Amino acid sequence: MPRKISPFIREQVRQRAAVLCEYCHTDEHWQLVPFTLDHILPTSEGGDDTLENLALACFHCNRHKSDKQSVFDADTQNVIPLFNPRRMLWAEHFIWSADGLRVLPQSDIGHVTIKWLELNRERVQRIRQDDIAINRHPPLADPRESS
Ligand SMILES: [Zn+2]
Repeated sequence: MPRKISPFIREQVRQRAAVLCEYCHTDEHWQLVPFTLDHILPTSEGGDDTLENLALACFHCNRHKSDKQSVFDADTQNVIPLFNPRRMLWAEHFIWSADGLRVLPQSDIGHVTIKWLELNRERVQRIRQDDIAINRHPPLADPRESS
């Protein structure tokens, strides 16, 4: 069961993320349902509801991340951490494909996160395609990276 997080904290997480899912960078503005709050360290492992442990995540990314912080990668036969939006910069692990439809990995972390969270699932690629047509995709660079 998701825990109740105060609207104040939730709004701070949203603004910090510039209302993008912090994994797939889908923009919450254009979605039918509000995004969820992901506990980076899961509550089952003692993760709390502080800003430092929360990330804005679309339903799909949150569900696929679940309580994982790292996954076994069959390609490299290694346990590799998933992208952690509080400790890592998106642009260091991911880049948009030239046509803007796909997230491409820039690191092993990017590679396993794309695979595990299905950042290029068919539905999100269709959304990106529609958004490109009206100039609202790809999103502007992560605001935290522009300073
Ligand atoms: Zn997402």
